[in-house]
Amino acid sequence: MKSKNNFYIVITISVLMIALSISISLINFMVSLHSTETDLKTRSLPLTVDNIYTEIQKHVIEPNLVASMMAHDTFLKDWLINDEQNREKIIRYLETIKNKYGMFVTFLVSEKTQSYYTQNGFLEHLSSSKPDNAWYFNFKKIQGDNEINLDFNNNLDNSLIMFINHKIYDNDYHFVGATGIGLKISYINDMLKRFRQEYNFTVMFVNDEGQIILSERTDAKIQNLSDVPELHKLSDQIIVKDSKILEYQKNGENYLLKTKYIPELELYLLVEAKLDDFTENVRQTFYLNLATSLLVTVIITFIILLMIRGYNQKLEFMARNDTLTGLMNRSAFNDSFNDFLHLCKRNGHPLSLIFFDIDNFKSINDTLGHQAGDNVLIRIAELLKTRLRRTDIVGRWGGEEFIIGLVDTDPKNAEVIAETLRKAFEEDSLLIHLTSSPVTASFGIVTAHTGDTIDTLLTRVDSAMYRAKELGKNRIETALEH
Ligand code: GH3
Ligand code: MG
Ligand code: MG
Repeated sequence: MKSKNNFYIVITISVLMIALSISISLINFMVSLHSTETDLKTRSLPLTVDNIYTEIQKHVIEPNLVASMMAHDTFLKDWLINDEQNREKIIRYLETIKNKYGMFVTFLVSEKTQSYYTQNGFLEHLSSSKPDNAWYFNFKKIQGDNEINLDFNNNLDNSLIMFINHKIYDNDYHFVGATGIGLKISYINDMLKRFRQEYNFTVMFVNDEGQIILSERTDAKIQNLSDVPELHKLSDQIIVKDSKILEYQKNGENYLLKTKYIPELELYLLVEAKLDDFTENVRQTFYLNLATSLLVTVIITFIILLMIRGYNQKLEFMARNDTLTGLMNRSAFNDSFNDFLHLCKRNGHPLSLIFFDIDNFKSINDTLGHQAGDNVLIRIAELLKTRLRRTDIVGRWGGEEFIIGLVDTDPKNAEVIAETLRKAFEEDSLLIHLTSSPVTASFGIVTAHTGDTIDTLLTRVDSAMYRAKELGKNRIETALEH
């Protein structure tokens, strides 16, 4: 019953500890999850968007200045106005600019002759019926003086080119042509690749129609926002001039999307992050925390169990034993002896009892002190433990009185044993050393008869011991028959 109670206590403590560690781990997990998400929303994604924007601006500003300078160059204007005489001059001009600023292409279009020149010379006559030439006719119509176009140019190596086009006006502000530069923008692809590899971000640029104009080359499957139903649903919020942070689910996974309009390119920059990629570490830490705390709980439970068991054993020992000598106390002796009495009665085996009281113990205490008295009691107990058989039971009855139950022992044998003990005490050098004179005891012996109970035996053995005292102490008296 007692150990069952202990078991329930340990189980309760363990369950509480497990509940505590799970809730602490869970709270930690939720907090980390939240802060990772907040960090993504408020720092990483906006910073990435700004970085990309800055990088693009950096790459656009200088080429735009060069194109603008060309459009305002009087030499270029005069050459157009003067009927495009002497093509070598303009070709050298375009070539010089191209080389000086490291452009991929420099071009000039004459409105009057519809001729298209590059640094390599005359290329073609533009025609509104050719799809490849549509850019020029569209450009002419726009309100502003310049535009940036992203184009895969078949004539130019089929790589993605960023064209910066500027209109050329004569002195009367009549449109006379267009000029500008083209740049390979492989740096954008490299940049997108870097963001994916280093930060796990997917970056793309879409136009007003939701067409994906630029994305990392590996991700060529998607061509329009409408190809991804989840993004298509959000296109009203993506294709707006305000920067946004959007959340959505795709294939059961959570995504964050940061958007920004880039006026220079007239494109919307989208940076997408799969939330799970960023919370993976948090999740792993959670599992590790949980496993560690469960392990610690198991270890603590085990330690508590061991401690309780040790404590119980100590309590049990204290309840049944005399603390000074380690012998059984009176009630433990009574219990054990009662069992023996029943057993011996049933088997018809003889059972004897020795009861002894140390002689003149009071004077040992009085002359040598209480501690010396205690040491005598301890030594007596040691002698009893070494002299008696394993089957005998011995207890401290109280004060300087001891009692011994002898199984399978008739009166004669009991007397022999009592005599052995009497002599052992009297002759023990340690006791003589402790008290400076022999320590003796007076013994009473009794052997159980049918009809004896523990009480009758005790009464008889007690009076036998008193008789030994009266007859001069340090002797053994056998109880009288009743
Ligand atoms: P007798 O020979 O007639 O037995 O005389 P006695 O002095 O031994 O007997 P008495 O009963 O007068 O004294 C017993 C003393 O034992 C009194 C008590 O203070 C002392 N005593 C009892 N328990 C302890 C103990 O645990 N330690 C010590 N040191 N003394 C104890
Ligand atoms: Mg006494
Ligand atoms: Mg005594």
